[in-house]
Amino acid sequence: MELIEHWIGGSSTAGTSGRRGPVYNPATGAQTAEVVLASTEDVSSAVRTAKAAFAEWKDSPLTRRQNIMFAFRNLVVEHKLDLARALTSEHGKTLDDSLGEVQRGLEVIEFACNIAHLLKGDYSEQVSQGVDTYTVRHPRGVVAGITPFNFPTMVPMWMYPMAIACGNTFVLKPSEKDPSTSLMAAEMLQQAGLPDGVFNVLHGDKEAVDGLLEHPDVAAVSFVGSTPIARYINETGTRNGKVVQALGGAKNHMIVLPDADMDLAADAAVSAGYGSAGERCMAISVVVTVGDAADQLLPKVQERIDALKVAPGEEEGAEMGPLVTEIHRDKVASYIAAGEESGATLVRDGRTATLPSDGFFLGPTLFDNVERNMSIYTDEIFGPVLSVVRTGTYEEAIDMINENPYGNGTAVFTNDGGAARKFQQEIEVGMVGINVPIPVPLAFYSFGGWKDSNFGSHGIYGPEGIHFYTRQKVLISRWPDPIHRGVDLGFPQHG
Ligand code: NAD
Repeated sequence: MELIEHWIGGSSTAGTSGRRGPVYNPATGAQTAEVVLASTEDVSSAVRTAKAAFAEWKDSPLTRRQNIMFAFRNLVVEHKLDLARALTSEHGKTLDDSLGEVQRGLEVIEFACNIAHLLKGDYSEQVSQGVDTYTVRHPRGVVAGITPFNFPTMVPMWMYPMAIACGNTFVLKPSEKDPSTSLMAAEMLQQAGLPDGVFNVLHGDKEAVDGLLEHPDVAAVSFVGSTPIARYINETGTRNGKVVQALGGAKNHMIVLPDADMDLAADAAVSAGYGSAGERCMAISVVVTVGDAADQLLPKVQERIDALKVAPGEEEGAEMGPLVTEIHRDKVASYIAAGEESGATLVRDGRTATLPSDGFFLGPTLFDNVERNMSIYTDEIFGPVLSVVRTGTYEEAIDMINENPYGNGTAVFTNDGGAARKFQQEIEVGMVGINVPIPVPLAFYSFGGWKDSNFGSHGIYGPEGIHFYTRQKVLISRWPDPIHRGVDLGFPQHG
Protein backbone atom coordinates (compact mmCIF):
# COMPACT_ATOMS: atom_id res chain seq x y z
CA MET A 1 0.00 0.00 0.00
CA GLU A 2 1.34 3.44 -0.95
CA LEU A 3 2.45 5.56 2.01
CA ILE A 4 1.87 9.32 1.69
CA GLU A 5 4.47 11.20 3.74
CA HIS A 6 5.06 14.76 4.96
CA TRP A 7 7.21 17.17 2.93
CA ILE A 8 9.51 19.10 5.24
CA GLY A 9 12.57 21.09 4.19
CA GLY A 10 12.39 19.86 0.60
CA SER A 11 12.12 16.11 1.13
CA SER A 12 9.69 13.42 2.25
CA THR A 13 9.59 12.14 5.80
CA ALA A 14 7.31 9.73 7.63
CA GLY A 15 7.53 11.75 10.86
CA THR A 16 7.48 10.30 14.35
CA SER A 17 3.87 9.63 15.30
CA GLY A 18 3.41 6.13 13.85
CA ARG A 19 -0.25 7.06 13.31
CA ARG A 20 -1.76 6.70 9.82
CA GLY A 21 -5.11 7.28 8.12
CA PRO A 22 -6.74 5.60 5.11
CA VAL A 23 -7.10 7.23 1.68
CA TYR A 24 -9.79 5.80 -0.64
CA ASN A 25 -10.71 5.89 -4.28
CA PRO A 26 -14.37 6.91 -3.80
CA ALA A 27 -15.34 5.56 -7.23
CA THR A 28 -14.33 2.00 -6.31
CA GLY A 29 -14.58 2.14 -2.53
CA ALA A 30 -11.09 0.60 -2.28
CA GLN A 31 -8.40 1.95 0.02
CA THR A 32 -5.50 3.09 -2.17
CA ALA A 33 -3.01 4.58 0.28
CA GLU A 34 -2.17 5.39 3.86
CA VAL A 35 -1.30 8.91 4.94
CA VAL A 36 0.93 9.66 7.90
CA LEU A 37 -0.68 11.74 10.64
CA ALA A 38 1.59 14.25 12.37
CA SER A 39 2.45 14.34 16.07
CA THR A 40 3.13 17.57 17.96
CA GLU A 41 6.83 16.78 17.49
CA ASP A 42 6.33 16.67 13.69
CA VAL A 43 4.56 20.04 13.87
CA SER A 44 7.59 21.47 15.70
CA SER A 45 9.94 20.09 13.07
CA ALA A 46 7.92 21.63 10.20
CA VAL A 47 7.58 25.01 11.92
CA ARG A 48 11.28 25.05 12.87
CA THR A 49 12.19 24.38 9.23
CA ALA A 50 9.83 27.09 7.97
CA LYS A 51 11.14 29.57 10.53
CA ALA A 52 14.74 28.94 9.51
CA ALA A 53 13.84 29.41 5.82
CA PHE A 54 12.04 32.69 6.61
CA ALA A 55 15.30 34.36 7.66
CA GLU A 56 16.46 34.46 4.03
CA TRP A 57 13.20 34.25 2.08
CA LYS A 58 11.78 37.44 3.62
CA ASP A 59 14.63 39.39 2.03
CA SER A 60 14.50 37.68 -1.37
CA PRO A 61 14.14 40.20 -4.24
CA LEU A 62 10.63 40.62 -5.59
CA THR A 63 11.82 39.79 -9.11
CA ARG A 64 13.14 36.45 -7.86
CA ARG A 65 9.84 35.63 -6.18
CA GLN A 66 7.99 36.53 -9.37
CA ASN A 67 10.27 34.36 -11.50
CA ILE A 68 9.69 31.39 -9.20
CA MET A 69 5.92 31.94 -9.34
CA PHE A 70 6.05 32.14 -13.15
CA ALA A 71 8.05 28.89 -13.30
CA PHE A 72 5.63 27.22 -10.87
CA ARG A 73 2.69 28.48 -12.94
CA ASN A 74 4.17 26.89 -16.06
CA LEU A 75 4.72 23.56 -14.27
CA VAL A 76 1.12 23.53 -13.05
CA VAL A 77 -0.07 24.19 -16.61
CA GLU A 78 2.17 21.38 -17.90
CA HIS A 79 0.94 18.93 -15.23
CA LYS A 80 -2.69 20.03 -15.13
CA LEU A 81 -4.00 16.65 -16.23
CA ASP A 82 -1.77 14.74 -13.78
CA LEU A 83 -3.03 16.93 -10.93
CA ALA A 84 -6.64 16.51 -12.08
CA ARG A 85 -6.30 12.71 -12.32
CA ALA A 86 -4.78 12.46 -8.84
CA LEU A 87 -7.51 14.73 -7.53
CA THR A 88 -10.32 12.67 -9.08
CA SER A 89 -8.84 9.43 -7.79
CA GLU A 90 -8.91 10.64 -4.15
CA HIS A 91 -11.89 13.00 -4.14
CA GLY A 92 -14.21 11.38 -6.69
CA LYS A 93 -15.28 14.49 -8.65
CA THR A 94 -15.40 14.23 -12.44
CA LEU A 95 -12.23 14.84 -14.41
CA ASP A 96 -13.80 17.97 -15.92
CA ASP A 97 -14.52 19.31 -12.43
CA SER A 98 -10.95 18.48 -11.38
CA LEU A 99 -9.53 20.30 -14.40
CA GLY A 100 -11.75 23.28 -13.54
CA GLU A 101 -10.48 23.17 -9.96
CA VAL A 102 -6.83 23.26 -11.05
CA GLN A 103 -7.66 26.14 -13.40
CA ARG A 104 -9.18 28.21 -10.58
CA GLY A 105 -6.10 27.56 -8.43
CA LEU A 106 -3.88 28.52 -11.33
CA GLU A 107 -5.57 31.91 -11.52
CA VAL A 108 -4.41 32.70 -7.98
CA ILE A 109 -0.85 31.64 -8.86
CA GLU A 110 -1.02 34.00 -11.85
CA PHE A 111 -2.22 36.79 -9.57
CA ALA A 112 0.74 36.10 -7.25
CA CYS A 113 3.10 36.38 -10.27
CA ASN A 114 2.29 40.08 -10.05
CA ILE A 115 3.63 40.49 -6.52
CA ALA A 116 6.08 43.31 -7.26
CA HIS A 117 3.16 45.51 -8.23
CA LEU A 118 0.84 44.24 -5.49
CA LEU A 119 3.26 45.01 -2.66
CA LYS A 120 3.74 48.66 -3.60
CA GLY A 121 3.12 51.01 -0.72
CA ASP A 122 1.75 54.57 -0.55
CA TYR A 123 3.79 57.79 -0.47
CA SER A 124 2.71 61.31 0.51
CA GLU A 125 5.30 64.04 0.01
CA GLN A 126 5.48 67.17 2.18
CA VAL A 127 2.76 66.26 4.70
CA SER A 128 4.47 68.96 6.79
CA GLN A 129 7.56 71.13 6.09
CA GLY A 130 10.28 68.65 4.99
CA VAL A 131 8.19 65.70 6.13
CA ASP A 132 7.14 62.73 3.96
CA THR A 133 4.99 59.73 4.90
CA TYR A 134 5.10 56.33 3.27
CA THR A 135 4.06 52.76 3.84
CA VAL A 136 5.73 49.42 3.18
CA ARG A 137 4.36 45.91 3.73
CA HIS A 138 6.41 43.23 5.51
CA PRO A 139 5.73 39.48 5.56
CA ARG A 140 4.43 38.07 8.84
CA GLY A 141 6.65 34.97 9.19
CA VAL A 142 5.53 31.35 9.31
CA VAL A 143 1.96 30.90 8.01
CA ALA A 144 -0.09 27.72 8.57
CA GLY A 145 -2.76 26.72 6.04
CA ILE A 146 -5.45 24.19 7.03
CA THR A 147 -7.69 23.08 4.19
CA PRO A 148 -10.84 20.99 3.50
CA PHE A 149 -11.32 17.84 1.44
CA ASN A 150 -13.63 19.30 -1.19
CA PHE A 151 -11.11 21.38 -3.16
CA PRO A 152 -7.81 19.71 -2.22
CA THR A 153 -5.81 21.46 -4.95
CA MET A 154 -7.53 24.82 -5.36
CA VAL A 155 -8.12 25.87 -1.75
CA PRO A 156 -4.43 25.43 -0.78
CA MET A 157 -3.63 27.47 -3.93
CA TRP A 158 -5.89 30.23 -2.58
CA MET A 159 -3.31 30.50 0.20
CA TYR A 160 0.31 29.48 -0.35
CA PRO A 161 1.14 31.27 -3.65
CA MET A 162 0.00 34.54 -2.09
CA ALA A 163 1.68 33.93 1.27
CA ILE A 164 4.99 32.86 -0.28
CA ALA A 165 5.05 35.68 -2.84
CA CYS A 166 4.55 38.11 0.06
CA GLY A 167 7.77 36.74 1.63
CA ASN A 168 6.33 34.33 4.22
CA THR A 169 7.13 30.66 4.63
CA PHE A 170 4.31 28.12 4.75
CA VAL A 171 3.21 24.91 6.47
CA LEU A 172 0.20 23.38 4.72
CA LYS A 173 -1.98 20.88 6.60
CA PRO A 174 -4.22 19.55 3.82
CA SER A 175 -7.26 17.36 4.35
CA GLU A 176 -6.17 13.87 5.32
CA LYS A 177 -8.91 12.50 3.01
CA ASP A 178 -7.22 13.58 -0.26
CA PRO A 179 -3.64 14.62 0.49
CA SER A 180 -1.66 13.77 -2.69
CA THR A 181 -1.92 16.84 -4.91
CA SER A 182 -0.35 19.03 -2.20
CA LEU A 183 2.78 16.90 -2.46
CA MET A 184 2.76 17.21 -6.26
CA ALA A 185 2.61 21.00 -5.81
CA ALA A 186 5.52 20.84 -3.32
CA GLU A 187 7.69 19.02 -5.87
CA MET A 188 6.76 21.53 -8.58
CA LEU A 189 7.63 24.46 -6.32
CA GLN A 190 11.02 22.89 -5.65
CA GLN A 191 11.55 22.40 -9.39
CA ALA A 192 10.53 26.03 -9.94
CA GLY A 193 13.46 27.09 -7.74
CA LEU A 194 11.76 27.75 -4.40
CA PRO A 195 14.31 27.30 -1.61
CA ASP A 196 13.72 24.22 0.56
CA GLY A 197 11.80 24.95 3.74
CA VAL A 198 9.74 27.81 2.30
CA PHE A 199 6.83 25.45 1.53
CA ASN A 200 6.15 22.41 3.73
CA VAL A 201 3.30 19.91 3.81
CA LEU A 202 2.31 18.34 7.09
CA HIS A 203 -0.42 15.70 6.98
CA GLY A 204 -2.61 15.09 9.95
CA ASP A 205 -5.78 15.56 11.91
CA LYS A 206 -6.78 17.48 15.04
CA GLU A 207 -3.42 16.81 16.72
CA ALA A 208 -1.54 18.52 13.87
CA VAL A 209 -4.02 21.41 13.74
CA ASP A 210 -3.86 22.01 17.49
CA GLY A 211 -0.06 21.85 17.35
CA LEU A 212 -0.04 24.59 14.70
CA LEU A 213 -2.59 26.74 16.56
CA GLU A 214 -0.55 26.61 19.75
CA HIS A 215 2.93 26.94 18.27
CA PRO A 216 4.50 30.27 19.26
CA ASP A 217 6.39 30.57 15.95
CA VAL A 218 3.27 30.41 13.74
CA ALA A 219 2.31 34.02 13.01
CA ALA A 220 -0.80 33.56 10.87
CA VAL A 221 -3.37 30.83 10.21
CA SER A 222 -5.46 30.49 7.04
CA PHE A 223 -8.34 28.05 7.41
CA VAL A 224 -11.10 26.86 5.10
CA GLY A 225 -13.55 24.18 6.27
CA SER A 226 -16.79 23.65 8.16
CA THR A 227 -18.35 26.27 10.43
CA PRO A 228 -17.78 24.60 13.84
CA ILE A 229 -14.07 24.07 13.05
CA ALA A 230 -13.71 27.57 11.54
CA ARG A 231 -15.11 29.05 14.75
CA TYR A 232 -12.74 26.89 16.82
CA ILE A 233 -9.73 27.85 14.68
CA ASN A 234 -10.56 31.55 14.94
CA GLU A 235 -11.03 31.45 18.71
CA THR A 236 -8.00 29.26 19.44
CA GLY A 237 -5.70 30.97 16.95
CA THR A 238 -6.48 34.50 18.10
CA ARG A 239 -6.21 33.44 21.76
CA ASN A 240 -2.70 32.28 20.90
CA GLY A 241 -1.81 35.66 19.36
CA LYS A 242 -2.11 34.78 15.66
CA VAL A 243 -3.93 36.59 12.90
CA VAL A 244 -6.59 34.25 11.54
CA GLN A 245 -8.51 33.86 8.33
CA ALA A 246 -11.26 31.25 8.87
CA LEU A 247 -13.81 30.52 6.16
CA GLY A 248 -16.65 28.23 7.19
CA GLY A 249 -19.58 26.26 5.82
CA ALA A 250 -22.65 27.36 3.93
CA LYS A 251 -26.31 26.90 3.06
CA ASN A 252 -26.71 28.74 -0.23
CA HIS A 253 -30.12 29.84 -1.53
CA MET A 254 -31.14 30.72 -5.06
CA ILE A 255 -34.31 32.76 -5.54
CA VAL A 256 -36.31 32.20 -8.73
CA LEU A 257 -38.88 34.90 -9.58
CA PRO A 258 -41.82 34.10 -11.88
CA ASP A 259 -40.36 36.27 -14.68
CA ALA A 260 -37.00 34.41 -14.76
CA ASP A 261 -35.66 32.57 -17.79
CA MET A 262 -36.73 29.14 -16.51
CA ASP A 263 -34.33 27.17 -18.72
CA LEU A 264 -31.41 29.23 -17.45
CA ALA A 265 -32.63 28.82 -13.84
CA ALA A 266 -33.14 25.06 -14.23
CA ASP A 267 -29.65 24.61 -15.74
CA ALA A 268 -28.24 26.66 -12.87
CA ALA A 269 -30.11 24.78 -10.13
CA VAL A 270 -28.97 21.41 -11.45
CA SER A 271 -25.33 22.32 -12.11
CA ALA A 272 -24.96 24.27 -8.85
CA GLY A 273 -26.93 21.75 -6.80
CA TYR A 274 -25.40 18.50 -8.05
CA GLY A 275 -22.02 19.54 -9.51
CA SER A 276 -19.19 17.90 -7.55
CA ALA A 277 -21.98 15.86 -5.89
CA GLY A 278 -23.00 18.95 -3.93
CA GLU A 279 -19.66 18.96 -2.08
CA ARG A 280 -18.97 22.65 -2.74
CA CYS A 281 -19.17 25.48 -0.24
CA MET A 282 -20.83 27.51 -3.01
CA ALA A 283 -23.26 24.73 -4.01
CA ILE A 284 -26.90 25.73 -4.22
CA SER A 285 -28.75 23.81 -1.54
CA VAL A 286 -32.10 25.64 -1.45
CA VAL A 287 -34.15 26.92 -4.39
CA VAL A 288 -36.60 29.55 -3.14
CA THR A 289 -39.44 30.01 -5.59
CA VAL A 290 -41.74 33.03 -5.55
CA GLY A 291 -45.42 32.85 -6.61
CA ASP A 292 -45.99 30.31 -9.37
CA ALA A 293 -42.29 30.01 -10.32
CA ALA A 294 -42.10 26.49 -8.83
CA ASP A 295 -44.72 25.12 -11.21
CA GLN A 296 -42.77 26.45 -14.19
CA LEU A 297 -39.35 25.48 -12.88
CA LEU A 298 -39.74 22.02 -11.34
CA PRO A 299 -40.62 20.02 -14.49
CA LYS A 300 -37.49 21.44 -16.14
CA VAL A 301 -35.33 20.57 -13.12
CA GLN A 302 -36.67 17.00 -13.04
CA GLU A 303 -35.99 16.55 -16.76
CA ARG A 304 -32.38 17.60 -16.24
CA ILE A 305 -31.91 15.41 -13.15
CA ASP A 306 -33.16 12.38 -15.09
CA ALA A 307 -30.57 13.04 -17.81
CA LEU A 308 -27.61 13.43 -15.37
CA LYS A 309 -24.92 10.78 -15.81
CA VAL A 310 -23.72 9.60 -12.40
CA ALA A 311 -20.52 7.61 -12.94
CA PRO A 312 -16.87 7.28 -11.84
CA GLY A 313 -15.17 10.65 -12.35
CA GLU A 314 -12.73 9.33 -14.96
CA GLU A 315 -15.52 7.89 -17.14
CA GLU A 316 -16.29 9.67 -20.42
CA GLY A 317 -19.36 11.88 -20.08
CA ALA A 318 -19.61 11.57 -16.26
CA GLU A 319 -21.45 14.58 -14.80
CA MET A 320 -21.54 13.61 -11.14
CA GLY A 321 -19.17 11.32 -9.27
CA PRO A 322 -19.35 9.61 -5.85
CA LEU A 323 -19.16 11.24 -2.42
CA VAL A 324 -15.81 11.40 -0.69
CA THR A 325 -16.22 8.58 1.86
CA GLU A 326 -18.73 5.91 2.79
CA ILE A 327 -19.40 7.62 6.13
CA HIS A 328 -20.19 10.90 4.40
CA ARG A 329 -22.40 9.19 1.80
CA ASP A 330 -24.38 7.48 4.58
CA LYS A 331 -24.73 10.76 6.49
CA VAL A 332 -26.14 12.49 3.39
CA ALA A 333 -28.52 9.54 2.83
CA SER A 334 -29.72 9.89 6.44
CA TYR A 335 -30.80 13.47 5.64
CA ILE A 336 -32.97 12.12 2.81
CA ALA A 337 -34.68 9.81 5.31
CA ALA A 338 -35.11 12.72 7.74
CA GLY A 339 -36.60 14.95 5.02
CA GLU A 340 -39.10 12.27 4.07
CA GLU A 341 -40.08 11.70 7.72
CA SER A 342 -40.56 15.41 8.33
CA GLY A 343 -43.14 15.61 5.53
CA ALA A 344 -41.28 17.21 2.61
CA THR A 345 -42.25 15.90 -0.85
CA LEU A 346 -39.53 13.58 -2.14
CA VAL A 347 -39.54 14.20 -5.91
CA ARG A 348 -36.33 12.33 -6.77
CA ASP A 349 -34.70 9.88 -4.34
CA GLY A 350 -30.94 9.43 -4.80
CA ARG A 351 -30.97 6.27 -2.68
CA THR A 352 -33.02 4.38 -5.25
CA ALA A 353 -31.34 5.78 -8.38
CA THR A 354 -29.52 3.41 -10.75
CA LEU A 355 -25.88 3.79 -9.70
CA PRO A 356 -22.50 2.09 -10.20
CA SER A 357 -22.40 -0.94 -7.89
CA ASP A 358 -19.06 -0.11 -6.19
CA GLY A 359 -17.92 3.11 -4.58
CA PHE A 360 -19.60 5.78 -2.46
CA PHE A 361 -22.34 6.82 -4.89
CA LEU A 362 -25.66 8.50 -4.15
CA GLY A 363 -27.98 9.82 -6.85
CA PRO A 364 -29.32 13.37 -7.12
CA THR A 365 -32.20 14.04 -4.73
CA LEU A 366 -34.93 16.68 -5.00
CA PHE A 367 -37.37 17.74 -2.28
CA ASP A 368 -40.34 20.05 -2.81
CA ASN A 369 -42.48 21.81 -0.16
CA VAL A 370 -39.60 22.04 2.29
CA GLU A 371 -40.28 23.97 5.52
CA ARG A 372 -37.73 26.06 7.38
CA ASN A 373 -37.82 23.92 10.55
CA MET A 374 -36.78 20.71 8.74
CA SER A 375 -33.18 19.48 9.11
CA ILE A 376 -32.81 19.32 5.30
CA TYR A 377 -33.28 23.12 5.43
CA THR A 378 -31.39 24.02 8.62
CA ASP A 379 -28.24 21.88 8.16
CA GLU A 380 -25.41 22.02 5.65
CA ILE A 381 -25.86 18.58 4.03
CA PHE A 382 -22.86 18.83 1.67
CA GLY A 383 -24.26 16.30 -0.78
CA PRO A 384 -26.47 16.06 -3.90
CA VAL A 385 -29.71 17.08 -2.16
CA LEU A 386 -31.66 20.09 -3.41
CA SER A 387 -34.61 21.52 -1.46
CA VAL A 388 -37.36 23.70 -2.90
CA VAL A 389 -39.02 26.17 -0.52
CA ARG A 390 -42.11 27.90 -1.96
CA THR A 391 -42.81 31.49 -0.93
CA GLY A 392 -45.63 33.89 -1.71
CA THR A 393 -43.63 37.10 -2.06
CA TYR A 394 -40.16 38.35 -2.98
CA GLU A 395 -39.84 40.04 0.44
CA GLU A 396 -40.50 36.73 2.18
CA ALA A 397 -37.77 35.07 0.08
CA ILE A 398 -35.23 37.80 0.88
CA ASP A 399 -36.09 37.71 4.61
CA MET A 400 -35.59 33.94 4.64
CA ILE A 401 -32.04 34.29 3.32
CA ASN A 402 -31.22 37.16 5.65
CA GLU A 403 -32.48 35.21 8.66
CA ASN A 404 -30.31 32.17 7.79
CA PRO A 405 -27.17 32.00 9.96
CA TYR A 406 -24.95 31.31 6.93
CA GLY A 407 -24.01 33.97 4.37
CA ASN A 408 -21.56 32.49 1.89
CA GLY A 409 -23.14 32.69 -1.58
CA THR A 410 -26.57 33.36 -3.04
CA ALA A 411 -28.24 34.13 -6.37
CA VAL A 412 -31.38 35.60 -7.84
CA PHE A 413 -32.89 34.61 -11.20
CA THR A 414 -35.03 37.32 -12.78
CA ASN A 415 -35.32 39.41 -15.94
CA ASP A 416 -36.26 42.53 -13.97
CA GLY A 417 -33.32 44.88 -13.36
CA GLY A 418 -35.09 46.60 -10.47
CA ALA A 419 -35.74 43.28 -8.73
CA ALA A 420 -32.09 42.31 -9.22
CA ARG A 421 -30.92 45.66 -7.81
CA LYS A 422 -33.17 45.26 -4.74
CA PHE A 423 -31.54 41.86 -4.12
CA GLN A 424 -28.04 43.27 -4.56
CA GLN A 425 -28.75 45.99 -2.01
CA GLU A 426 -30.73 44.12 0.62
CA ILE A 427 -29.22 40.65 0.74
CA GLU A 428 -26.92 39.90 3.70
CA VAL A 429 -24.55 37.49 2.00
CA GLY A 430 -20.90 37.96 1.02
CA MET A 431 -20.99 36.71 -2.59
CA VAL A 432 -24.03 37.46 -4.72
CA GLY A 433 -24.97 36.23 -8.21
CA ILE A 434 -27.51 37.83 -10.53
CA ASN A 435 -28.52 35.12 -12.99
CA VAL A 436 -25.22 33.47 -11.95
CA PRO A 437 -25.63 30.53 -9.54
CA ILE A 438 -22.07 30.23 -8.18
CA PRO A 439 -20.60 33.73 -7.85
CA VAL A 440 -16.98 32.85 -7.09
CA PRO A 441 -14.80 35.96 -7.51
CA LEU A 442 -11.79 35.80 -9.82
CA ALA A 443 -8.32 35.96 -8.29
CA PHE A 444 -8.04 39.77 -8.45
CA TYR A 445 -11.07 40.15 -6.16
CA SER A 446 -11.26 38.44 -2.77
CA PHE A 447 -13.39 35.46 -1.75
CA GLY A 448 -15.33 35.40 1.50
CA GLY A 449 -18.81 35.00 2.90
CA TRP A 450 -20.54 36.75 5.79
CA LYS A 451 -22.00 35.67 9.15
CA ASP A 452 -21.33 32.01 10.13
CA SER A 453 -19.61 31.38 6.78
CA ASN A 454 -16.61 33.53 7.63
CA PHE A 455 -14.72 34.23 10.84
CA GLY A 456 -11.39 35.96 11.23
CA SER A 457 -10.20 39.24 9.86
CA HIS A 458 -9.97 38.87 6.09
CA GLY A 459 -11.37 37.20 3.00
CA ILE A 460 -9.06 35.01 1.01
CA TYR A 461 -6.77 35.72 -1.99
CA GLY A 462 -6.96 38.97 -4.02
CA PRO A 463 -6.29 42.29 -2.23
CA GLU A 464 -7.47 40.91 1.13
CA GLY A 465 -4.94 38.07 0.80
CA ILE A 466 -2.12 40.59 0.37
CA HIS A 467 -3.26 42.46 3.47
CA PHE A 468 -3.62 39.26 5.48
CA TYR A 469 -0.17 37.90 4.61
CA THR A 470 1.66 41.18 5.33
CA ARG A 471 1.71 43.81 8.01
CA GLN A 472 2.02 47.45 7.22
CA LYS A 473 4.80 49.70 8.43
CA VAL A 474 4.23 53.46 8.21
CA LEU A 475 7.33 55.65 7.93
CA ILE A 476 7.44 59.36 8.61
CA SER A 477 10.67 61.11 7.71
CA ARG A 478 11.85 64.70 8.17
CA TRP A 479 14.65 65.95 5.91
CA PRO A 480 14.95 69.74 6.04
CA ASP A 481 16.56 71.24 2.91
CA PRO A 482 20.32 71.41 3.70
CA ILE A 483 21.01 74.33 1.31
CA HIS A 484 18.44 76.52 3.06
CA ARG A 485 20.08 75.64 6.36
CA GLY A 486 23.48 76.71 4.94
CA VAL A 487 24.98 73.25 5.42
CA ASP A 488 28.21 72.58 3.50
CA LEU A 489 27.65 69.08 2.08
CA GLY A 490 31.33 68.73 1.24
CA PHE A 491 30.88 67.81 -2.39
CA PRO A 492 30.68 69.99 -5.52
CA GLN A 493 27.30 71.65 -6.10
CA HIS A 494 26.15 71.70 -9.71
CA GLY A 495 24.04 74.26 -11.49
P1 NAD B 1 -13.66 20.11 8.11
O1 NAD B 1 -13.98 21.34 8.87
O2 NAD B 1 -14.11 18.81 8.67
O3 NAD B 1 -12.06 19.98 7.91
C1 NAD B 1 -11.29 21.05 7.45
C2 NAD B 1 -9.88 20.92 8.00
O4 NAD B 1 -9.92 20.96 9.43
C3 NAD B 1 -9.20 19.60 7.62
O5 NAD B 1 -7.86 19.85 7.30
C4 NAD B 1 -9.34 18.75 8.88
O6 NAD B 1 -8.26 17.84 9.04
C5 NAD B 1 -9.34 19.78 10.00
N1 NAD B 1 -10.18 19.37 11.13
C6 NAD B 1 -11.29 18.59 11.10
N2 NAD B 1 -11.78 18.43 12.33
C7 NAD B 1 -10.98 19.12 13.18
C8 NAD B 1 -10.99 19.35 14.60
N3 NAD B 1 -11.92 18.83 15.39
N4 NAD B 1 -10.02 20.14 15.11
C9 NAD B 1 -9.07 20.67 14.33
N5 NAD B 1 -9.02 20.48 12.99
C10 NAD B 1 -9.96 19.73 12.41
O7 NAD B 1 -14.22 20.33 6.62
P2 NAD B 1 -14.26 19.28 5.44
O8 NAD B 1 -15.32 18.27 5.72
O9 NAD B 1 -12.90 18.82 5.09
O10 NAD B 1 -14.75 20.25 4.25
C11 NAD B 1 -16.07 20.57 4.00
C12 NAD B 1 -16.48 21.85 4.70
O11 NAD B 1 -15.66 22.93 4.28
C13 NAD B 1 -17.91 22.27 4.36
O12 NAD B 1 -18.51 22.75 5.53
C14 NAD B 1 -17.73 23.39 3.35
O13 NAD B 1 -18.79 24.31 3.27
C15 NAD B 1 -16.48 24.03 3.87
N6 NAD B 1 -15.81 24.81 2.83
C16 NAD B 1 -15.88 26.16 2.91
C17 NAD B 1 -15.30 26.93 1.93
C18 NAD B 1 -15.37 28.43 1.97
O14 NAD B 1 -14.68 29.03 1.17
N7 NAD B 1 -16.14 29.04 2.83
C19 NAD B 1 -14.62 26.32 0.86
C20 NAD B 1 -14.54 24.93 0.84
C21 NAD B 1 -15.14 24.18 1.84
